[in-house]
Amino acid sequence: TYNVESFEYKILTEEFSSIDEYYASFKATLKRDSAEVLEEIKLSNVRGRGGAGFPMGLKLGFCRSVESETKFIICNADEGDPGAYSDRYLMEQRPHSVLCGMLIAGYVTHANHGVVYIRAEYPDSATIIEREIELLRAAGLIGKDIDGSGFDFDFKVIRAQGSYICGEETALINSIEGQRPEVRVRPPYPAEQGLFNKPTIVNNVETLASLHYIIEQGGAAWKAIGTDRSSGTKLVCLDSFFNKPGIYEVEMGTPMSTVINEMGGGFKLPVKAMQIGGPLGGLVPVSKINDLNLDFESFAENGFLMGHASVICIPESMPMIDFLEHLFDFAAYESCGKCFPCRLGTKRGHELLRKANTSDYKISKKLFEDLLSTLEEGSLCAHGGGIPLPVKNAMEYFEEEMKGYFE
Ligand code: SF4
Repeated sequence: TYNVESFEYKILTEEFSSIDEYYASFKATLKRDSAEVLEEIKLSNVRGRGGAGFPMGLKLGFCRSVESETKFIICNADEGDPGAYSDRYLMEQRPHSVLCGMLIAGYVTHANHGVVYIRAEYPDSATIIEREIELLRAAGLIGKDIDGSGFDFDFKVIRAQGSYICGEETALINSIEGQRPEVRVRPPYPAEQGLFNKPTIVNNVETLASLHYIIEQGGAAWKAIGTDRSSGTKLVCLDSFFNKPGIYEVEMGTPMSTVINEMGGGFKLPVKAMQIGGPLGGLVPVSKINDLNLDFESFAENGFLMGHASVICIPESMPMIDFLEHLFDFAAYESCGKCFPCRLGTKRGHELLRKANTSDYKISKKLFEDLLSTLEEGSLCAHGGGIPLPVKNAMEYFEEEMKGYFE
């Protein structure tokens, strides 16, 4: 069990009423022109919650404009970032927000197939989602000609057996196809050629969950919440180093000091930094808390990444070299192996840090910087390309602690 709280806005955490009440706005949507509904989503400026922050309306628009008899909506529920459990919360406690979001995405893109790709570590999520899909079927809200609209849609639930990289949309698609989960070269993007080479939308659980509010209250209502470029609310996961760990629904643009000290109740133990947004997210020293707001721009301007907004604390007692060694070990283990900068670079990074951590060996700064820029510029996807960010943050903000390991 964990705390779930909202402040000011209760949208994603809103209690579920009943299928009849909840889906009334979806039924009304089916009577509207789907192009109009897409404009509403574009107006809201809702951006992907999985980490990349890509505008959802644009993505849906790309997929809609591709002619194809078969299209797919994939819900990416392979929530693999350590410390992130907001997707799990939505699937288990608010499953209809996710299912309704997929139906809406299907309606605006003319897709008739929904795939919910749920990580194997979340067996309850899969069971709950399957159970609720059957309730929708009984209510006539999925299947052929939903509510006499001519729109067909049905779901398939996949219990993923994949690894961390299956959260990357093209590796996820390969995994569904039964292939080795390797990242695909883009273009073509999934919106044009995705699952079985058909136009495909891959969206994170939380992104899809935001659509119900947008169609019910209008895109302008969502846009009015948060900041100009980061609209709406965001779920933030705080770990057990907080006095009040849990999931908080936070308006975008809220100062991080409010999230950490007021919502989370501050730290239980002395903490020196937080890794926010998963292993590829930045490493935020506690001295930067007052400079940050919870939105895409504030994090980027300060040299961090909001990502999926999970917060993992690094205690004072943990040497930074141990953290970085573990980070590279994780990155090497989870690399899909498709491109050599990441396949070799993450391994070499781990070896260098391990050697420096366990012997008198000093790492060449030049070599290490070369390694980071090769990873950043040469990697095919955000896995290899993203690992240098927290490493660079650590080198900058914990220079005193790290300099003894370098020549
Ligand atoms: S960066 Fe890593 S995970 Fe991404 S394609 Fe290359 S090897 Fe695979």
